[in-house]
Amino acid sequence: MSGKDYVEKDYYKVLGVPKDASATEIKKTYRKLAREFHPDANKGDVKAEDRFKDISEAYDVLSDEKRRKEYDEARTLFANGGFRSGGPGNGNHSFDFGDLFSGSQGGGGGGIGDVFGGLFNRGGTRQAQPRRGADVETEVTLSFEEAVDGATVPLRMTSQAPCRTCNGTGARTGTTPRVCPTCVGAGTVSRGQGAFALSEPCRDCRGRGMIVDDPCPDCHGSAKATSARTMQVRIPAGVQDAQRIRLKGKGAQGERGGVSGDLYVTVHVDTHPVFGRKGDNLTVTVPVTFPEAALGGTIEVPTLNGPSVKLKLPAGSANGLTLRARGKGATRKDGTRGDLLVTVEVAVPQAVTGDALTALEQYREATASDDPRAALFRAAKGA
Ligand SMILES: [Zn+2]
Ligand SMILES: [Zn+2]
Repeated sequence: MSGKDYVEKDYYKVLGVPKDASATEIKKTYRKLAREFHPDANKGDVKAEDRFKDISEAYDVLSDEKRRKEYDEARTLFANGGFRSGGPGNGNHSFDFGDLFSGSQGGGGGGIGDVFGGLFNRGGTRQAQPRRGADVETEVTLSFEEAVDGATVPLRMTSQAPCRTCNGTGARTGTTPRVCPTCVGAGTVSRGQGAFALSEPCRDCRGRGMIVDDPCPDCHGSAKATSARTMQVRIPAGVQDAQRIRLKGKGAQGERGGVSGDLYVTVHVDTHPVFGRKGDNLTVTVPVTFPEAALGGTIEVPTLNGPSVKLKLPAGSANGLTLRARGKGATRKDGTRGDLLVTVEVAVPQAVTGDALTALEQYREATASDDPRAALFRAAKGA
């Protein structure tokens, strides 16, 4: 049973009882549903089997007075968006978060355990716990080719890491910090009483819970060191301009054995003078002559970082027709490549002279009876 289940699953809905249903009502409803969906009565019906599991799980929690109370509190807390420290009702609950949410710790990839971990770290009650390193944001500019094929780029990062001299304790080598007598290691002290108690960082230890009598000479007791490091970071093939990629574990180092944070890199991609990009496909515009478009032929087309390809241009190709050179596009995540989309553009010569002019005039005479605008005028008249 994980805390996540508590938040995501509506056990009342599963049983179809109201939230204030009595224990007797819950029991009665459960028995009825259990009979109906019991696997023995529904041989091989997977849906019924799943439903039976859900019903049993819901009943396990709702039939136990203590667990039902915890479940109700967890859901109320979430429904209220209730993680704000010091919010109403957060003060004196008897609710055991540790038990409830321990199930989702280490499940990989954040979740409720992390949220609660963060909450309690801020509250200062778990100063000695490992702390995950901070996430770090940075930007990088790639050339068009690098974005298409992927690239390993150096990223210079400055970060706050635990001081190496004192291993992040802040105390001179050979000495150890002592527990702060004011807050007894909690890092926070309470002022006021009962419902109006305020928790604030302990002044004597500045919220750290420990006091360093003989500070480390390198970090002056701060326990931190600013380190600049240059990392070689692999940007996967196929990134798009403005895409933000996450590099797990490449952020700031954790404290007290905690895992490192993540590095988020926003990628900017330069444009290319010839090629464009449409998802996994590359685009290029290729000029063709009028005879090539009209009579057809083979055209040679450049590719990005590769030998050119020859494409067959069909006779009667219209201006703007797009041909496809398979596998000459951008690299996809799975290593396959997109296509190169080749748009043909019929080039019109700025000046025609000599034999070409004579031939073109003959062509005009030979096609004088073809009116290219006849269909246009018919359509304009609404025929
Ligand atoms: Zn203190
Ligand atoms: Zn130090």
